[in-house]
Amino acid sequence: MLKFCPCSMARPLGGLLWVALLVIAAATPSSAAWNCADKDKHGIDLAQPLNLGQLKVQLRDYRYCGAYDADFAARIAEAIGYLKQHGSDEPNPAVVLDIDETSLSNWQEIEQDDFGYIPGGPCTLDAGIGCGDAAWELRAEATALEPTLELFNVARSMKIPVFFITGRRDKAELRAATIKNLKTVGYDGWQDLIMRPLDSQGPVAPYKSAEREKIEKTYKIILNVGDQQSDLDGGFAKKTVRVPNPFYFIP
Ligand SMILES: [Mg+2]
Repeated sequence: MLKFCPCSMARPLGGLLWVALLVIAAATPSSAAWNCADKDKHGIDLAQPLNLGQLKVQLRDYRYCGAYDADFAARIAEAIGYLKQHGSDEPNPAVVLDIDETSLSNWQEIEQDDFGYIPGGPCTLDAGIGCGDAAWELRAEATALEPTLELFNVARSMKIPVFFITGRRDKAELRAATIKNLKTVGYDGWQDLIMRPLDSQGPVAPYKSAEREKIEKTYKIILNVGDQQSDLDGGFAKKTVRVPNPFYFIP
């Protein structure tokens, strides 16, 4: 899965980035020590290019001080309201959900890597050591984003099939870990888990919209929920809902 930084430039620089991230991660404060009382002091000077360190402080304010949870819940409440109102409008309705930062939270990895992206390497979660993305996904320890789990269960109670479409790569061990993770946190009874083929390259939106087009040969997708615009672009959904994610970008 190309998460956080899909740019090809990251690969030849991987060694340097790894060293840099180790240094940065070692200086990262723990979540328990975060002081939300200071968040009003964390404004950014817009007279020059944005300061990455200040942005990280603001992101932690957003995540730790309640605004992210509130914004996320508000967007999903909108989706649930739409589902309850329009879930019976079509003869064969379906719902599509993205996984990462939509259905599951990888915050532990994001925090561990200080908002960097480390594709390979181990993920021990030891303090001050970066966590490789593939190893993290294999740990199957992402947590549920509870509002989306509620949305999932509302759809299931209305007997509306739910499809997961994820950018996670379709490898047997990763598929097994993703299924384990989803079930462990409470998701159960989805219609299909669509993972990105290993030979699929380039932007995410064409892959995801093509998968939605396949679903629409049988169903009508009434709701598509994701945290990236690339989860939603390309059509094949009556309504799209985008949940907040200022922590990384996937084109
Ligand atoms: Mg996502």
